[in-house]
Amino acid sequence: MFESLSDRLGGVFDRLRGRGALTEADVRTAMREVRIALLEADVALPVAREFVDRITEQAVGAQVLRSITPGQQVVKIVHDGLVEMLGSDTSELDIDVTPPAVVMLVGLQGSGKTTTTAKLAKLLAGKQRKKVLMASLDVNRPAAQEQLAVLGTQIDVATLPIVQGQQPVDIARRALQSAKLQGYDVVMLDTAGRLHVDQALMDEMKAVADIATPNEILLVVDSLTGQDAVIVARNFTDQVPLTGVILTRMDGDARGGAALSMRAVTGKPIKFAGMGEKLDALEPFHPKRVAGRILGMGDVVSLVERAAESIQVEDAEKMASRLAKGQFDMNDLRQQLAQMSKMGGLGALAGMMPGMKKAQAAMAQSGVDDRILIRMDAIIGSMTLKERLKPELLNAKRKIRVAKGSGVTVQDVNKLLKMHQEMQSAMKKLKKMGGLKGMMAMLG
Ligand code: GDP
Repeated sequence: MFESLSDRLGGVFDRLRGRGALTEADVRTAMREVRIALLEADVALPVAREFVDRITEQAVGAQVLRSITPGQQVVKIVHDGLVEMLGSDTSELDIDVTPPAVVMLVGLQGSGKTTTTAKLAKLLAGKQRKKVLMASLDVNRPAAQEQLAVLGTQIDVATLPIVQGQQPVDIARRALQSAKLQGYDVVMLDTAGRLHVDQALMDEMKAVADIATPNEILLVVDSLTGQDAVIVARNFTDQVPLTGVILTRMDGDARGGAALSMRAVTGKPIKFAGMGEKLDALEPFHPKRVAGRILGMGDVVSLVERAAESIQVEDAEKMASRLAKGQFDMNDLRQQLAQMSKMGGLGALAGMMPGMKKAQAAMAQSGVDDRILIRMDAIIGSMTLKERLKPELLNAKRKIRVAKGSGVTVQDVNKLLKMHQEMQSAMKKLKKMGGLKGMMAMLG
């Protein structure tokens, strides 16, 4: 087992207690650990090195957000760098062209090409309602064409009839002709693989690509082959105009490093990830998920992300000065509730923080859940502006109106008012104790 990056950085940053900007010395120490973590996640050495250099530049001088530690901040920067490098969004296939669109899959033998051809065909034929024709150009491996035909029957997608002895280029030509005549939207070409990259294979790929002019040429790579995959990718990239990569066996790879290497070496987006042997086990590639996997710490990253997104410093400052004066009206309460929701609700927040599992269970038991946040927001929404500033205006008659307006009972309105009162008096106490700063320091 390898130590996750969070564990590694934990050790380094235990010694760092500073707030403010990250210094160059801090960052360099951290980056040594990041590099080791990347290598252990199976990222190719030159790729890891280049990545670390780039990230170091970005991280030096970065401000540490108020609510997190320097270690968490570095992890966030590394994570964002990974996501950016992996491609910040999922990539669609470029097949909205005058039909038939041609999708060609290339890669080594055993990489999962044939299976992936069928998976992709199923996806296009199913969700996207495309009329798909598959053709196997693999005349080297005995029964390769039959294998695709069998898969075709399973997923109810047409395969090009097999003509014994026909060569790849001619099969491709025939597939295109059939597709045009019979009105197919997409032709999928499953090409031959070899155990190792060789020139005869590359020449064959190029010849097929020349006559079929594919809209997509997708390199299929087994994510478990790690460093070898880099050599394969480099060879293919040099010789055929790839448009994207599909990583197979991501179900068996807990580390995810191959993705980073592939992206760096080919310069092309990773479009799909194979997640199992079944024919529906193909997913759009999610850079964020894989970045989290490489770091071994999805949760801290999303916590930091949400903190950064939702805590708008100005708002917080404004609120702090109001609270410091002991002011806390319904608008303030509403803002607090919105902030909680934005951070993923009570449960999400508790689940992300280490050691908060117990608190989460307690909340669930006492019936405090996210629906309550929404309901409380609705109640405040049904108050007039005056009532929000001066909740004591709410007499019995007004309470009934607010309850009706927000679809709750008067009891619910009372609960909210009580909660507001409690918070308000807590704020006043806090003011005596030294204000919000004291509280924030306590929260870390
Ligand atoms: P090809 O030689 O490149 O055409 O490879 P195949 O499509 O025949 O796949 C080789 C083996 O890998 C088969 O047993 C597939 O079921 C398996 N395979 C393909 N993709 C995946 C995947 O994403 N996950 C897993 N676990 N197995 C896969």
